[in-house]
Amino acid sequence: MRISRAASDERPVSGFDLTDALFVGAVVYLCSIFGIYTAPPGVLAAFWPTNAVLLGLMLRRTHPPKLLHWLAAASGYMLASLYMQHGWPKSAMLACTNLMGVSVGYFLLSRMSAEHQGLRHPRSMLHFVLVVVCAAAAAGLAGIFVHPVLFGGSAAYGFAFWFSTELVNYIAILPVMLTMPDVRRWLKDHKRRADWPGLHIEQVAPLAAFAGSLWLGTQLGGPGVIPYPIPAMLWCALTYSLFATAGITLFFSMWTLLAISSGTLVIGANFDTQQAIMSLRVGVTLTALAPLTVASVMVARNELLARLKYAASHDPLTHVLNRGGFMINAEELLVTPQLMRRPVAVLMMDIDFFKKVNDSYGHAAGDVVLTSFARVVEGCLRGGDLLGRLGGEEFAVLLPGCSEADARIIAQRVCDAFARHTVAVGEGKLLNSTVSIGASCADNTGTPIETMLSAADAALYKAKQSGRNRVELA
Ligand code: GH3
Ligand code: MG
Ligand code: MG
Repeated sequence: MRISRAASDERPVSGFDLTDALFVGAVVYLCSIFGIYTAPPGVLAAFWPTNAVLLGLMLRRTHPPKLLHWLAAASGYMLASLYMQHGWPKSAMLACTNLMGVSVGYFLLSRMSAEHQGLRHPRSMLHFVLVVVCAAAAAGLAGIFVHPVLFGGSAAYGFAFWFSTELVNYIAILPVMLTMPDVRRWLKDHKRRADWPGLHIEQVAPLAAFAGSLWLGTQLGGPGVIPYPIPAMLWCALTYSLFATAGITLFFSMWTLLAISSGTLVIGANFDTQQAIMSLRVGVTLTALAPLTVASVMVARNELLARLKYAASHDPLTHVLNRGGFMINAEELLVTPQLMRRPVAVLMMDIDFFKKVNDSYGHAAGDVVLTSFARVVEGCLRGGDLLGRLGGEEFAVLLPGCSEADARIIAQRVCDAFARHTVAVGEGKLLNSTVSIGASCADNTGTPIETMLSAADAALYKAKQSGRNRVELA
């Protein structure tokens, strides 16, 4: 998400910046026009997405915005306002008020870590709410001056109106902008995994419950129906991604306000004062914070679990699987239905005279040899093969769907590649090591991995006995 602020401000303005700024200006203009045209009579469901979208856009850029981008945004506001025949002074005042909130929001959010900006920390929502309250208050302060001049209301009303409108829009829209996945990366990841989730009942049920509770609210009516969808939204937060939850909470806020203003949702209260309207809008939006917080905590928890799982199954030095990770993955691979009737091979590999490397060049040089060996082996394997460090300088490879003849070729390829590979072990010293490999093969995946490893280990012993730097088959 956010890239360090320091370097980028020194970049000169490029052609890319110009098109990029033009894009920012166009988004501001289009969002403003959208806000103006979709506003229903009365302010209950008034929706002004521009400021939250602009703030999200400025934060999600790979480089921090330049003055050019802010000028483009100001022009977008001005043009939309002039298009509505507001005249220059009024347009300028409205643009300034809008930019006040956005710039304070940007100032505060851009100083937060990428983790907090992406709402991926258990306390992120807390920080987020504090920041948007400040941004909304900045717009409210501008409203104190602007509102009486433009709309003839009191200064206090000016503050309350701008503050509440901005708060509602930031809380509803900004989480969607901040958690939106990078589309290109998302598509690439899904293509690579090629395991698009089917439509399972557990996946659909939370959304169905959400829709059901919205419908129930329209049938029952009364002031209590507003938070009816909360349990379903919490279920969504526990099931779906943070981005999807943010989308659902945005939908909840917009739908509730639109349904009340259109009479679809009858809550039996009068919204004939501006104060009542503001109270309802802020109340509905704050309701959505609970599911967002749960989703945020879930993201933090899932990331932590993934990190723990990786640490538990991988070797920290070479980053290949450790013994435990190798055995679990190998057992899983051997029961994969597509591989069941196919041959399988296991290689046991042990670096030759490795103790000498440690004794002559030091333990750190030994570590470099181990890491380079892992990279060399990876370079000789296919995508579905499994490499693990079983301990010390012993590595194993599982080759699913590999015949005896192919196993010999692959093992010899590793042997030759490592013998050719030169490792720099510091102070300009270059080192060549070799490896001995034992291979065991089976016609199908029915043989337990332990048995295959023992057979490969016996073959490895034979390779060591026959002079090292060679391959032997069990
Ligand atoms: P052979 O050709 O018979 O395999 O001889 P060898 O010296 O490679 O075998 P030996 O089992 O005697 O020595 C293995 C050495 O690997 C001993 C141990 O100190 C070293 N070793 C184990 N783990 C690590 C590690 O993580 N880093 C480094 N640098 N050395 C390690
Ligand atoms: Mg050994
Ligand atoms: Mg050895």
